[in-house]
Amino acid sequence: MECKKCTGKLEVHRSCRRVRLRCTACGKEYQIHEVASELDRETEELLECYTAIIYD
Ligand SMILES: [Zn+2]
Repeated sequence: MECKKCTGKLEVHRSCRRVRLRCTACGKEYQIHEVASELDRETEELLECYTAIIYD
């Protein structure tokens, strides 16, 4: 899915026990709940790999 700021590609980024979506272009990070309603299928599948994520 795309960054809301620059339309760069968002990638799943895990740090410690938190998972974020991070823009590969501008570096903007999104919490999962910020974009939960807009997740596309590809991103959902990536997130499903993290079975123990904390959605903070
Ligand atoms: Zn961006």
